[in-house]
Amino acid sequence: MASITSPFLIPSKTKTKTCYSRHRHLTITASSRPLRAAVIGGGPAGASAAISLANANITTFLFERNPAGSKPCGGAIPLCMMEEFSLPPSLIDRHVSKFLLLSPSNLPSLFSRHLSAESHYIPMLRREVLDSFLRERAKEKGAVVVPGLVTGIKVPGSDKEPYVIRYTSEGSIQTIEADVIVGADGANSRVAREIGAGEYATAIAFQERIRLPPSAMSYYTDLAEMYLGSDVSPDFYAWVFPKCDHVAVGTGTVSSKTSIKSLQASLHARAGSKLAGGTVIRVEAHPIPEHPRPRRVVGRVALVGDAAGYVTKCSGEGIYFAAKSGRLCGEAIGRLWREEGKVTEAGLKREYLKKWDDEYLGMFRFLDILHKVFYMDDAGKEALTEMCADAYVQKRTFECYLNKKMTVGPPWEEMKLAWRTVGSMMRNRLLGKEVEKLRKLEGSYPSII
Ligand SMILES: Cc1cc2nc3c(=O)[nH]c(=O)nc-3n(C[C@H](O)[C@H](O)[C@H](O)COP(=O)(O)OP(=O)(O)OC[C@H]3O[C@@H](n4cnc5c(N)ncnc54)[C@H](O)[C@@H]3O)c2cc1C
Repeated sequence: MASITSPFLIPSKTKTKTCYSRHRHLTITASSRPLRAAVIGGGPAGASAAISLANANITTFLFERNPAGSKPCGGAIPLCMMEEFSLPPSLIDRHVSKFLLLSPSNLPSLFSRHLSAESHYIPMLRREVLDSFLRERAKEKGAVVVPGLVTGIKVPGSDKEPYVIRYTSEGSIQTIEADVIVGADGANSRVAREIGAGEYATAIAFQERIRLPPSAMSYYTDLAEMYLGSDVSPDFYAWVFPKCDHVAVGTGTVSSKTSIKSLQASLHARAGSKLAGGTVIRVEAHPIPEHPRPRRVVGRVALVGDAAGYVTKCSGEGIYFAAKSGRLCGEAIGRLWREEGKVTEAGLKREYLKKWDDEYLGMFRFLDILHKVFYMDDAGKEALTEMCADAYVQKRTFECYLNKKMTVGPPWEEMKLAWRTVGSMMRNRLLGKEVEKLRKLEGSYPSII
C-alpha cells in the first residue's frame, strides 16, 4: 500500500492516524498551491484520469476498494486502444482474428473474414491484468494509489471549500480533502448518488470463466463467438471470449434479469460440445449502464466511464470509452487549472463534457438505432447475422470498431447496403415463423458447425 503522507490530509473524526491540513480555508488559486484531485475507482476510467491528472502536476489520490480483484468483464478491446494508451503487447491473452456470429437458429456467420487489414485483430485480455497495469502507471506518474473503500462525500457549501471524502482503508475510517473529484466508481457509483447525478437503466451481465481441456481450448485459440437469440438473451447477446487458459462465457439482458441463469443455461446448450469437460473457475455478474446519466458534472465533480454511463448499446462495449473519458476529464481539469487557475462546473462542462459529446454522442446514438432495428426480435437478429456475412458490412464494422471512428463509405455502397438491409429484414421476418416452427419440432438446435 502507498502510504498517504500528503500535507493535504485533514484529521478524521473517527479512529485513525492524525494528519493535518495546512490549507483548509484557503481560496484555491493556481499560484497558491497544487490542486488536489480525488479519483474514486481504479478501473480503466479512474486509472486513466489519475494518469492525466498526475501528468498535469495535480496532487492526485486514486481510490480503489479492491486492488487485488477483477471487474467482471469480457475483456475485448478495440485495437486502437493499444497504441492510444501505449499498452504493451504482453497484456494481451489472445489475438482474436476470427469472430463467429451465431444466429437465433444457430446459423454461423464468420464475421471476420473481411477484417480490413491482415494485421487487424481484437485484443482479448483479463481485466485484473489491464487494471493493475494502469494503476501502476498512475503510481509511476505520481498519483497516490489508496487501497480503500470510499463511503461518503461531504459536499461543500461554497465553491471555495474542499469536498471531504470519507473512506475505510486497512480497517480504519479516514477522511481526505479534495478540490475536485472524478467519479470513476462504475455502474453502482456512490459518487453519482452523493451528487444527485440521477439514475440510469442497467442491463445485468452474467459470466462464467471456464477452464477447458487443451483440445477444446485449441478451438478458441484465436476465435471468439457471439450468440444471438431470445433463448440466450432477449435484448442483447451471449459470448464466448478466449482468455489465457480459459474462456469467458456469458450473457446479458435488460428485460429478463431474473432469468439470467436460464439464459446462461441456453448458451451452454447452444455451445454444446465445445465447452465439454470444462471446469468453472469463477462466476461473476455486474450491471452495465444503458445510457448516460442525466447529470455527469455537478459542481467540481465529474463522472467518467460506467459511472457516467458510457457503454454502447449494441455491443456492451465500455473499456475504451471508460479509459478515454477518464483521460479527457483528467486533461480537462489540468487545462482548466493551468490556463484559468480554477476548476468550475462551467469549465468542466465546456472542457470535458462538450468535448466528449462532440466526439462520441453521434456514435452512441447510431449504435442505439442499430440496436433498436436488429435486436428487437429473433427475425431482426437473423437478419443481422445474414448482414454480417456481407464483405462490405464486415469491412466497415471493423474499421469503426477497431479504430473508434465513424466514417461514411462511398454513397453507392451505402445505398446498396441500405437496400440489402431492407431485403434481409423482410426475408427473415417472413422466414422467422417457419424457423420457429422447426425449432419447436426439433426441440433443440441442430449442430451446424
Ligand atoms: C460481464 C461483462 C462483460 C463485459 N465485457 C466487455 C468487453 O468485452 N469489452 C468492453 O469494452 N466492455 C465490456 N464490459 C463493460 C466494461 O466492463 C465496463 O464498461 C468498464 O469496466 C467500465 O470501466 P470503469 O473504469 O468505468 O468502471 P469499472 O471497471 O466498473 O471500475 C470501477 C472501479 O471502482 C471501484 N470502486 C467502486 N466503488 C468504489 C468505492 N466506493 N470506493 C473505491 N473504489 C470503488 C471498483 O472496485 C472498480 O475497480 C463488460 C461488462 C460486464 C459486466
